[in-house]
Amino acid sequence: MEQAKPRRRVTLSTKILIGLTVGVVVGIGLNLALAPELGAEPREAYQAIERVADEYVKPVGDLFLRLLFMVVVPIVFCSLFLGVASLGSVQKLGRLGGRTLLWFFGTGLLAAVLGVALVSFVGPGERMAADVAEQVKQQYLPAAQAKVAQSAEAKSWLAALVDLVPTNVVGAASSNKGLLSLILFALLLGAAAIGVAPERTRVLRELLEAVYELCLRILDWTMRLAPLGVACLIFHAAVKLGLPVMQLVGWYFVTAMSGLILLQFVVLPGLALLFAGVGVGAFLRRCRGLCVTAFSTSSSNATMPTTIRTAEEEFGVPNRIAGFVMPLGATMNMNGTALFLCIVVLFLAQVAGISLDAGDYFVVVGMALLVAIGAAGVPGGSLPLIALVLAQVGVPPELLALILGVDRIVDMARTVPNITSDLVCSVWLARGEAVGDT
Ligand code: ASP
Repeated sequence: MEQAKPRRRVTLSTKILIGLTVGVVVGIGLNLALAPELGAEPREAYQAIERVADEYVKPVGDLFLRLLFMVVVPIVFCSLFLGVASLGSVQKLGRLGGRTLLWFFGTGLLAAVLGVALVSFVGPGERMAADVAEQVKQQYLPAAQAKVAQSAEAKSWLAALVDLVPTNVVGAASSNKGLLSLILFALLLGAAAIGVAPERTRVLRELLEAVYELCLRILDWTMRLAPLGVACLIFHAAVKLGLPVMQLVGWYFVTAMSGLILLQFVVLPGLALLFAGVGVGAFLRRCRGLCVTAFSTSSSNATMPTTIRTAEEEFGVPNRIAGFVMPLGATMNMNGTALFLCIVVLFLAQVAGISLDAGDYFVVVGMALLVAIGAAGVPGGSLPLIALVLAQVGVPPELLALILGVDRIVDMARTVPNITSDLVCSVWLARGEAVGDT
């Protein structure tokens, strides 16, 4: 008698991928079938679909997103404190921290230069017809003005540095903007614990280890909702955006997406091979689930706990390294955002007919590195800062309106290399430690 074959279990990352595909196909399909031409009156059927998307589908996606955000603060705090405290010496902390920052800076620079090279080569702004530019701009002007207003609230770099030190740690933990301050506090507390007799901090350590473990369990439960959450988030974005907007800013869209794809599928796997000895195929396969989570949430912060998990379970990175690199990386290391910033600023300068000199290019690359540190790891977190950079190089910030229509998709795409770079960094550091280098 023939034995029944054991049924192959569908993995979670495959289910999430299915959710993503369903969301994209149904959303784009409905948009193509029902959405009005740009600037035309919307049809009743499309309005009904939009209402369903806004009132019923988006809340389900938001629920998933909020469940992810919910565990970010405790995970950041516990993992950083425990990671630093377990290093055992301040010298080790200095070495680990130094290498981590070197990675953030080096890969950020690489990504920014790639962005500059691509946008100069393709020249998307020179290819855009003036009337089309005007039409798109009018449609998204109010949204752009809101971002410009937000950027006006931004402080000088020095003031931002002072603000990094929280006057109230509990208050800092209550907003995404305060995450850097919380990181600083957790790092200092961990460093202080290094110098104290272990029995004095044992209770605190055990408590934080327990909180950390329990949060990871909540994360597990949340991730079971991911196929549905991802489908809802993507459906909502796709039904609202559709393809026509992408066609209008086509060359910009193609340039930005090609840059991000190059970064994600060539540069970062190349670095993983070079620095961490992980083959390209194996690397991409093992971070598939992580990438889908980053893509659908558009948020480094929301993805961060999953990044720690992936580093530990798929790449064998010790917890003290993953727990140290990922919270820092989610807020300070955004390769995709650095590349995107260069493309946006130079594209809009081309549209406005402003020619930038070598000094301006230098400023743009430098700003890209700063924005990668300063931007919050939330959807659209870098946009207010980009408005600031535009003003700095003399490009009217309102021109941001031109790219806002497609920014949700570009945002999803730039978040993926943002967190993948953190992952490669942790694998590199773990390898260094294994050969006694770190
Ligand atoms: N959404 C990006 C992230 O969370 C930030 C941005 O570039 O807007 O990594």
